[in-house]
Amino acid sequence: MVYPSARIQYMKKISIVVPCFNEAEVIEKYYSAMTDMWERSDLSASYIPEFIFVNDGSDDGTGELIQALSDRDKNVRYTSFSRNFGKEAAIFCGLKQAEGDAVIVMDADLQHPPAAIPEMIHIWEEGFTIIEGKKRYRGREKRSMGIMARIFYALMSRITGFDMSDSSDFKLIDRIAVDTLNSLSERATFFRALTYWIGYRSATFTYDVAERAGGKSKWTGRSLSWYALVNLTSFTYAPLYLIGITGLIILLIGAGLGIDAVISYIGGKSVGGYPSLVLLITLATGGIMFNLGIIAVYIAKMYTELKNRPRYIIDRQK
Ligand code: UDP
Ligand code: MG
Repeated sequence: MVYPSARIQYMKKISIVVPCFNEAEVIEKYYSAMTDMWERSDLSASYIPEFIFVNDGSDDGTGELIQALSDRDKNVRYTSFSRNFGKEAAIFCGLKQAEGDAVIVMDADLQHPPAAIPEMIHIWEEGFTIIEGKKRYRGREKRSMGIMARIFYALMSRITGFDMSDSSDFKLIDRIAVDTLNSLSERATFFRALTYWIGYRSATFTYDVAERAGGKSKWTGRSLSWYALVNLTSFTYAPLYLIGITGLIILLIGAGLGIDAVISYIGGKSVGGYPSLVLLITLATGGIMFNLGIIAVYIAKMYTELKNRPRYIIDRQK
């Protein structure tokens, strides 16, 4: 897109951060859908887009495609990671690069409809700082995945105290909140929840998740379960407190069994030694191992933060 230079100084800039991992099939489609939408809507009169593609270690030519786009269009910038660091790292890298008055984060596969952007920007113009995208229709997904997602967001909402049902990474963030997010020092980020956590005046808009424009989703049941565990433990210490509670329950069961054994002994009945022993040992070791596992999750996270490694390594950039 070309803008007359005299006008540019009066125009605000909207950065669009697009994390990309093996999206060669959709990059061109995404870029033309976005530029078409921008030129056709009333946005082009007041805003210049700044596309920030973050190539998260793709090996299918995505990097070359976004480099070619940036040669063609001076509003396109890109960063290429040295390997795959994950969507969270790509989003936060994009937020660091963004120079816009507001930043929109969206997926490359057109599942986040470009047509929703004028509405997001108009809500921002009314004075809201964060405009959260909520899924009205979740798109085609496995029934089990849909149920798991609902449970996860119900838990997340309970823990954080924010209504995170049907939330997504598709959102607009004003410069002030982008600076706040950039100032957070933690590595194990959960972008979707952090925009709620930092506060500010927020509004929501709803959208229907579209079909992928091509290529395939990077998620598997296993990676999603891990993601859920990591993110839940980032926002709550309740599992650590639960350790104490389960310990107490096991202790009470043990005490009950002990009292029962004493009463039986006094009453002259013989105590079933072997079954009660097995029961006690299983209860106690099971409880201890499970709780050690919970502690291990938090220790591993502390260790990651302590190592202070960079969240991503940049190979090329423009
Ligand atoms: N993505 C990324 N790094 C990853 C995985 C995904 O940058 O390790 C990007 C991906 O290219 C896409 C967005 O994150 O733009 C959402 O990914 P995907 O479509 O696979 O997730 P889904 O829509 O199925 O939840
Ligand atoms: Mg997708």
